[in-house]
Amino acid sequence: MTINIQPIGKIRTPYKEKFAIPRQPGLAKSAEGEIIFFEEFNDPNYLRGIEQFSHLWLLFHFHQTADKGHSPLVRPPRLGGNQKLGVFATRSTFRPNGMGMSVVEFGAVSYQNNQLSLTVKGIDLLDGTPILDIKPYVPYADSIPQASGGMAQHSPELLAVTFTEQANGQLHMLEQRYPALGLLIREVLSQDPRPAYHQHSHPDKTYGMTLYDLNIQWQVINQQNVVLTIHPK
Ligand code: SAM
Repeated sequence: MTINIQPIGKIRTPYKEKFAIPRQPGLAKSAEGEIIFFEEFNDPNYLRGIEQFSHLWLLFHFHQTADKGHSPLVRPPRLGGNQKLGVFATRSTFRPNGMGMSVVEFGAVSYQNNQLSLTVKGIDLLDGTPILDIKPYVPYADSIPQASGGMAQHSPELLAVTFTEQANGQLHMLEQRYPALGLLIREVLSQDPRPAYHQHSHPDKTYGMTLYDLNIQWQVINQQNVVLTIHPK
């Protein structure tokens, strides 16, 4: 059986590459995305009443990894990449049908110049991700406080993040264009985006990530992520 699915829109996000995107929504709460609706869905009626919900489910397609296929077993980063679990026991991006789901915070609806858009916060989606569906988060049904989260029972431990004087100066200038940039960098780097196998073996390595059109470089020094430079690409 084959089912054809038509995306309803695409999301614009600050995350231009997979590296350093938080592993789940809500870990970088300030990360904002804007869903731009495709022509057939470019009608404010589709969103009427949505503002009464503080949170929404986004269903989307892992478009960047979809062509890599899947296998029955995957190595979750949570387990240090050493143990294998069944793909359906994980939130891996490499899965049949390449479907992702994220709870995000509702932001605002806009309809300007005949273009419908919806902003949401706390996203873990790559820029350009096709959005398949949007549904309200319904606390009485979707929140199960006594649920067991297995290997992911708790949110990941956070690393402290500091900025060198040079990075602070660059941030100050760039915040005129991206007002919440400092907070976003802190939230993203506090998740320690390094691959698990680097955490003990690459002490002096300088890492780089892209947010918006900016290249951000940092190093781990005494268990802190120290931002070295923030440069337009
Ligand atoms: N919350 C979703 C879920 O559970 O289905 C996504 C979880 S998945 C582990 C999150 C990771 O997916 C991010 O850290 C990023 O590396 C990756 N990702 C986000 N958008 C993607 C896309 N469009 N294509 C491929 N990978 C993507």
